[in-house]
Amino acid sequence: MMEKSYKNIVSIIPPPPFHMVGDGFRVHNFFPSLPETGLKGMSPFFLLDYGSKWNVPPSDVTKGVGVHPHRGFETVTIAYHGKVAHHDSAGNSGVIGEGDVQWMTAGAGILHKEYHEKEFSKRGGLLQMVQLWVNLPAEYKMTAPKYQAIENGNMGRFYSDDKKSFIEIIAGEYNGIKGPAFTFSPVNLFNAKLKEGAKSEFTFNKEYNTGMVVIEGEIKINNSKTAPADNFILFGHSGEDIVIEAAKDSIVLILSGEPINEPIASYGPFVMNTEAEIKKAYEDFYNGNFGYLED
Ligand code: MN
Repeated sequence: MMEKSYKNIVSIIPPPPFHMVGDGFRVHNFFPSLPETGLKGMSPFFLLDYGSKWNVPPSDVTKGVGVHPHRGFETVTIAYHGKVAHHDSAGNSGVIGEGDVQWMTAGAGILHKEYHEKEFSKRGGLLQMVQLWVNLPAEYKMTAPKYQAIENGNMGRFYSDDKKSFIEIIAGEYNGIKGPAFTFSPVNLFNAKLKEGAKSEFTFNKEYNTGMVVIEGEIKINNSKTAPADNFILFGHSGEDIVIEAAKDSIVLILSGEPINEPIASYGPFVMNTEAEIKKAYEDFYNGNFGYLED
């Protein structure tokens, strides 16, 4: 057996105070706002907004975030509890149900709106979700917008020997099982759904930026540190292996990808390489070049 070379744990970060995105999403930003990660520390992942469990009161007014643009990256929305609906200017719309993922490539530019699904909004209930922004390499920033609806049943699945625990593969590959998401650079995105006592091992390239969010439960990492629910674990670049053990029944979002070593210029809803490209994005947006979407 090969000797394990564990990835070092840089930091276990409790959720920072939440802020609202529109009136519908109560999120903790783990990056880029935290000094441990900064703008590039998790590249190709640029932003991680984590919506911890929130009991949304019933409402006849649908809450969410109204029409807004994006350019230069992809938004990946994962629903753990509750239902999120969306519409975009490329004509796509749909509902992200519990366990599902929406992978939207903004590319050259898109308008969209994101909000609580109508029936969920009326009934109210538990909402827990993640929105991740995956940066695009310069050569693909102006790619045509597109959209991948990834339903839970279409994800790759790797089961533990006792079949009680499993890894859902959204993007990338785990033990030879591939995820359905098309990505523009190497990205691994998994959910580990582990029963108490279950152990899972991961191996990611040394250079890859790697982090985890404990969505549910509590885990022990590399046989040393413990991370409770709602915490973000940032790994460093020594070693390739990670082992996690569920101290309780747990769900862990795992992200690891090849860094995009290019300059970043970001402002509001745009992530580009230069300030001139940001300025151009605003001009194009104000000139109506992102299409049209009704409020
Ligand atoms: Mn958006």
